[in-house]
Amino acid sequence: MYLVESFLSIQGEGKYAGYPSLFARFGGCNLRCKGFGCEFISPLNGSKLIGCDSLFAVDEKHFKQEWESFDDAQKLFSKIIMHLKDIDYLPHLVITGGEPLIHYKNPVFYGFLELALDYGFNVFFETNATVEIDFDKFALYKKVGFAMSVKLSNSGEKYEKRVNKKAIQNIALHAKEAFFKFVVSEDALAQIKDITKDIDIPIFCMPLGANRTELEKNSHAVILFCLKNGYNYSDRIHVRLWGDKRGV
Ligand code: SF4
Repeated sequence: MYLVESFLSIQGEGKYAGYPSLFARFGGCNLRCKGFGCEFISPLNGSKLIGCDSLFAVDEKHFKQEWESFDDAQKLFSKIIMHLKDIDYLPHLVITGGEPLIHYKNPVFYGFLELALDYGFNVFFETNATVEIDFDKFALYKKVGFAMSVKLSNSGEKYEKRVNKKAIQNIALHAKEAFFKFVVSEDALAQIKDITKDIDIPIFCMPLGANRTELEKNSHAVILFCLKNGYNYSDRIHVRLWGDKRGV
């Protein structure tokens, strides 16, 4: 397992925006989402890379050298809970990436989840909801919440790759809690209706924007979109406060 970063902050998006949250970001993703257009410089060879705002947790070839490897669940958990040393409450534990569920069967990852649940954490996964979880065999996933950020066409990924309705329905049916979180730009309505059809969980819509200027430019249109169609608006508080800074 590769840990990219871990930090204590507030949740910036979705149903629990504003909640104190301990983030554990794991490396690797099954999508690339170049359509989000965020630019990074490769630490490997200085080349310009395009992807999502978490590209540093996605692109193994260029960023893996910055990731920390763990082959023991207890060591990984001990590293994460070091962030609690100056506080006397339990924040949410948010497991993110990349796409954390590509590791869902990994014994180190599953052992880490078990330790976190035993410790009393309220655990949430940030997922693109493309991975079909075997909830019978890996029953701990029934005890966690899922923010399903299913990608729309603005991600630049093909429909067949970014939308797995079986995986979405599976999570909505079995998880302790689940909600949708979409990054909205033009042509979003038909896509959202298609993905959420027959699934009765909350829907949050967020503006595209990896920095304050883009967010400011796009947020009003998304608020109007939510008002017109009965969806919940979610801001991206971390982008407003810290721009594209990492680890916040
Ligand atoms: S699924 Fe998420 S983490 Fe993976 S490339 Fe797309 S936006 Fe980035």
